[in-house]
Amino acid sequence: MNSQSLGPTLIGVGFAVIVVPFVVMFFLAIGPVGWLLIGGSIIVVGIAVSLREAPSYDDGDHLERTNCADCGARIDADADTCEHCGAVR
Ligand SMILES: [Zn+2]
Repeated sequence: MNSQSLGPTLIGVGFAVIVVPFVVMFFLAIGPVGWLLIGGSIIVVGIAVSLREAPSYDDGDHLERTNCADCGARIDADADTCEHCGAVR
């Protein structure tokens, strides 16, 4: 380990020495019920994020979309008429 990486490492260790006891005391203070609440909340958030990011529904990205020349609405590129204003393309 050279002196260039030693500095930041010592700073990180120093912060850890200061922060870790507070975190440990916090978790000891809130007790098992708090652990369950915090852990459960993190799990629920993780599940929610996973479900939101999962491509569970087809939003039609595979379809070519274009703007209607008359009203500017987003319509299928291969549609014969605009589904919003009815203009024939
Ligand atoms: Zn239109």
